[in-house]
Formats: sequence, structure tokens, C-alpha cells
Amino acid sequence: MDLETTETERLRTLDQQRVWHPYTPTDAYLNAKPLVITHGEGVYLVDSDGNRYLDAGSSLGVNIHGHQRRELNEALAAQAAKIAHTTLYGMTHPGAAELADRLVRLAPEGIDKVLFLESGSSAVETAMKMAYSYWVFKGSPQRNKFVSMGGAFHGDTIGALSVGQMTILKNFYQPLLRETSSFAQPYAYRCGLCHNNCNLACADTLEEVLEREGDEVAAVLVEPRVQNVSGMIVARDGHLARVAEIARRYGVLLIADELGVGFGRTGPMFACQADGVSPDILCVGKGLTGGYMPLTATMASKEVFDAFRGDGKMLLSGHTFSGNPLAVAVALASLDLFEKDDLIRHGQAQAVVLAEELDKFRSVAHVGDVRQCGLLAAVELVADVETREPFPMELGVATRITERCRELGMIIHSAPSDTIVIVPPLVMTEEELRTMARILLQATQEVVASLPT
Ligand SMILES: *Cc1c(COP(=O)(O)O)cnc(C)c1O
Repeated sequence: MDLETTETERLRTLDQQRVWHPYTPTDAYLNAKPLVITHGEGVYLVDSDGNRYLDAGSSLGVNIHGHQRRELNEALAAQAAKIAHTTLYGMTHPGAAELADRLVRLAPEGIDKVLFLESGSSAVETAMKMAYSYWVFKGSPQRNKFVSMGGAFHGDTIGALSVGQMTILKNFYQPLLRETSSFAQPYAYRCGLCHNNCNLACADTLEEVLEREGDEVAAVLVEPRVQNVSGMIVARDGHLARVAEIARRYGVLLIADELGVGFGRTGPMFACQADGVSPDILCVGKGLTGGYMPLTATMASKEVFDAFRGDGKMLLSGHTFSGNPLAVAVALASLDLFEKDDLIRHGQAQAVVLAEELDKFRSVAHVGDVRQCGLLAAVELVADVETREPFPMELGVATRITERCRELGMIIHSAPSDTIVIVPPLVMTEEELRTMARILLQATQEVVASLPT
């Protein structure tokens, strides 16, 4: 519903006085007229003035079935009529048992147990604690280090930041972080290892790290197939299998962080399945509740779980809202919708449409790289297409494009190094997908044309 203009102004002022916004430049926000989103309709967001925006970022990668899906609303209401919250500490509730079983059935071979959490960061940290505890119980407590990929993002809390490798975050928080090692990022467009003749040399750099430090390493963390937060860096087919093979050979655990890629984003239900990889620990979230409630899960193999058996052993970890029944109920309803809407197949078909649309960007001036894996894609802009030299940061090219998209009725986000990231809700129709691409193409062309020469 449209709010009175004065009401919108009142809310903006109140917000700017009181709300501290995450990852938002302070002064720019205080000087802006922020959108006030009042509701959602399918794949559109609606603001307080009644303007509609295509949700091309799936509200940070979580929205799968569109906003206001009747089935999800009903599941939430039905659960609220029973109980909104109870704990999983030493007891259970029906939804937790059902959801854990369904997740295990959908997960890669070998995954057997599910621990519920409420954010991706906590899912990753729990995976790290699981891996370390596993080695303690196996009599190798010196295995307390972690290795992750260049450019990795595994979350925002201090433990998760420690295994992250994005320069802006790493540099800023360095004194607070645990030391970790990294291996090469699978960034074909800027790879100095293979000179555009990929032989997975990036994955092989893991071997050097494990050769050096292997005895102290608890686990290798990997974002299977696509590093979403650092700009949709798409690894070549077989990359994950190579990483997994090396980790196995050195006897360290493999943690797959599927926060950004799970639930059909890259084609199959989970990205690991494309490369036929079974990780020891699997973190899922973002799409788990179709974008309705904060719920994530850290899943583990039987081998990992069994290390916690006997002698009063346990996982010393858990959060107050772990396995919240409302969140669990809506996750179950979301999995029902995957079946009812045949969503995995739909997503794969839409990925073909997206690929067609993305082709139109390749000939636009200053477009350096176009990357796609399923319904995750990115357009990277550069100052010089020949040398791949980035634009000066101050130009804010990607920000200008996302702002222009907003004027044209679409919310879309950018990543570092002038990359526009495309994360449409899986449910998007062909027509909506083509509208999305058309708006982005227009915005990109206009902004590129307006740049100083
Ligand atoms: C989003 C994301 C996280 C962090 O999840 P939060 O819920 O924001 O804590 C971790 N890893 C990957 C790959 C992600 O995409």
C-alpha cells in the first residue's frame, strides 16, 4: 500500500537517525533518500510510494519462490498456531526431525547428520569447530589450522572472517583474525597461472600448502563452483573434484560452503553434486527457507559424527535459536515447492535463457568478462578490455549501474572490482528474466556512454 509522502519522509528520517545499516557507506546513506520497502509481490519489491522493483538479487540470494508465496505464508501461520519456539538442546520437535531427514536425502552421498543454525557465518564457524573437535577426538589436536581459497568469503563473524580471503575485509580486520593459509582463486579472467589454457593449476596450489602445513590442517574450506560474494567467480568443471582429491590425499577434512550456491542456484540441488564430490561437512543456508526466515545448517558425514560418540563426548557448540520451529516449518514448505513447481528443472531451463541474454553484454564497450553458472552470473567492467585494467575506484562504475537500474525499476547489487552480480529468484519466468537482462543492458550501456573518455 502507498504510504503518504509525509509518512515516507518520517520513516526515512527516523531510520537515518536510528538504524545502523550493514555494509553501507555511512555518509552516502545519510545523504541519500533510501527506499522504504513495504511489501513484495512475486519477484517484485514494492516501496512506500507504490513503485515496483524487480528483485534481481533475490534479496541477497535468499529468495527462491518469490515474495508472498501463499504456501509459505500458510506454513508459517500453521506453525505459529502450534509453537513458535522451543529448543533443540537435548530434545526435539517434529519439524526438525523431518527437515533433517529431507536435507540428508537431498544432500551429496555420505552426508548423514544435520545441525541447525541461523546464519551462514555461524554455520561456517560451527563447521570449523566440528572439524577441530573431530581431530581432538581422533587424537590429533595439532590439526587446528584451516586453508581456504583466494578471494573466499565464508561469513562475517571473526572466525568466519579468518577463513575469508577478500582483501578489503582481511586487511581491515587482520589484527583480530586467526592465521589461515590460502590457495589460488579459480578466477579464469585474471588467472596468472594457466594463461587462458586452464589445467586447474589453481586447484593444484592447494597441494603446495598441504605439503608444507598438512599435519596441522584440520580442514580445507571451499565454495563449490562459484564464489558468489567476491563477484561470481566461476570455477571450471572439475575444479572441486581436484580440490577434494588433494584434500583426501593429505587426509584433511573438506568443508563445502554452499551458502551461496545451494538449493538449485547452479543447476543441481547442491553444487557439489555437479562435480560428484561428497564433502565431509556441508554448510547450507540462504535459500533454505525460500528467503522467509533465518535458518542454516551444518551437515556432516557419519564418519565425522561418529567421532563425537562415547565417553560423554559432544559438540560444544550451539545457538539459542538453533532449529527454530517457524523457520523449520517454512523450510519444509519450501522443499515442497521445489517438488510442486519442478523448480530444479525450471531453474536449469531459465539458465539457458539467461545465457542467451548474457551474450548481448559481451559486445558492450568496457565489458571485460561475463560469467555464469546456472542462475548465478556476473558482468565485470574494465577500463581497458585489452589489458583488463580495472577502472579507478573513485569512478564507482558498478555503483552507477546499480543506481541506474534502480531508477529503471530493478534492485541489483555489485561486488568489488566493478562487477554486477545477477542472482534472480529461481522461480522467475522467461519473460521476467528477459526484462531483468534488458534493464541491466540499458543501464550498463547508458553508464558506459556517460564515462569520461
Ligand atoms: C552469505 C554467505 C555466507 C554468510 O552467510 P550469513 O548468513 O550472511 O552469515 C557465507 N558463505 C557464503 C558462500 C555466503 O554466500
